[in-house]
Amino acid sequence: MKKLSLHDIELEGKKVLMRVDFNVPMNEDGTIADETRIKLSMPSIQYVLSQGARLILMSHLGRPKGERNPKYSLQPCAGALQKHLGKPVLFASDCIGSDVEAQVSKLANGQVILLENLRFYKEEEHPDDSHKFAKELAKLGDVYVNDAFATAHRKHSSTAIIAEEFPEKAACGFLMEKEYSHLSKILLNPRRPFHAIIGGAKISTKIGVLKSLLQKIDSIFIGGGMAYTFLKAQGHSIGDSICDDQYLDEAKSFMSQCSEKAIQCYLPKDLVITKEISDQAEYKTVLVKEGIPEGWEGVDIGEKTVEEWSSFLKNAGTVFWNGPVGVFEVPSFAKGTQSIAEILSECNGITIAGGGDSVAAINQLGFSKNFTHISSGGGASLEFIQYGHLPGIDALSNR
Ligand code: AMP
Repeated sequence: MKKLSLHDIELEGKKVLMRVDFNVPMNEDGTIADETRIKLSMPSIQYVLSQGARLILMSHLGRPKGERNPKYSLQPCAGALQKHLGKPVLFASDCIGSDVEAQVSKLANGQVILLENLRFYKEEEHPDDSHKFAKELAKLGDVYVNDAFATAHRKHSSTAIIAEEFPEKAACGFLMEKEYSHLSKILLNPRRPFHAIIGGAKISTKIGVLKSLLQKIDSIFIGGGMAYTFLKAQGHSIGDSICDDQYLDEAKSFMSQCSEKAIQCYLPKDLVITKEISDQAEYKTVLVKEGIPEGWEGVDIGEKTVEEWSSFLKNAGTVFWNGPVGVFEVPSFAKGTQSIAEILSECNGITIAGGGDSVAAINQLGFSKNFTHISSGGGASLEFIQYGHLPGIDALSNR
């Protein structure tokens, strides 16, 4: 990687301002539902502290939309980090201003402070023309590090704009480097055959990545809600299934580009259908060629589809997977997604899960250690595959 790494900088005694992704899911009672994101930041945090630096961590949490809202306070993350680090973690009740500057100036070498949610300021997501907010944040550090891969596709104050204030001192964290290295490998040099599985709710959010994959893959497997737009475009009856009608032409054009390039495009051949998305609802499996009756909707791929896809996926050189192939939150409609997770966990090729809901399914089943890489950012990994670069990485200093 051409970008400055944490290993390239002398850190002792420096104030290291690090953007992390502590955007953890929260329970109703204000406790953290899943600390994975905090754990993923630990290698960079521990390294910086071990070098005798003073560490200032900043993150966003949820969508407070520029307003101070205690529901989105990062304070619980300070507690969780303290537990993982085994040493005190200070907390600042704001992320900019003279009080925070005073707290930071009192930090001793090896001490760490977490700042309050960046998104309590609207300028975080919508940087002002003068970059005042980014400049205020920058006052807190001598060195800037970005380890928040999950927000690296956003050109926000703390993820990209701020790097301007740190010429030759804006470095890439370890998590960011790891994501970059795995994802660029599949872009530049995938082991063949290279298959992509794309699921999720809507074609509209994934059409860009689908098109860019056309330059790279050998086969594509389309499941989830977005499959119904493709099936309708092929002339199948899809009943009440979710469908982006304005993308029917795009879907047709995608399939014809696949055949021009000799890329195999697999759609489901059988489907689990229901009258209602609930675990109590009646459901059955139908063949796609028979069609889905009115009043019923498709909610998962069927066993015949799993069997067909499995024969290719098992022998893949590389697989990139993004998006569940069914409504996996409802146990009756989770079997397809679980089967894909299981097939990939047994595949000897390079298996990369591109963040988001498919990762939740992999984790639920305990298969995560069998994957080559599970990306920490759904949107960021899709944009990286699509464009080959991200604003949060581009902004960092070159080596
Ligand atoms: P995405 O964020 O685009 O990856 O979409 C994930 C969501 O797609 C999950 O909440 C799934 O429940 C949903 N999903 C998957 N398959 C279907 C389907 N057949 N109908 C409706 N929603 C679906």
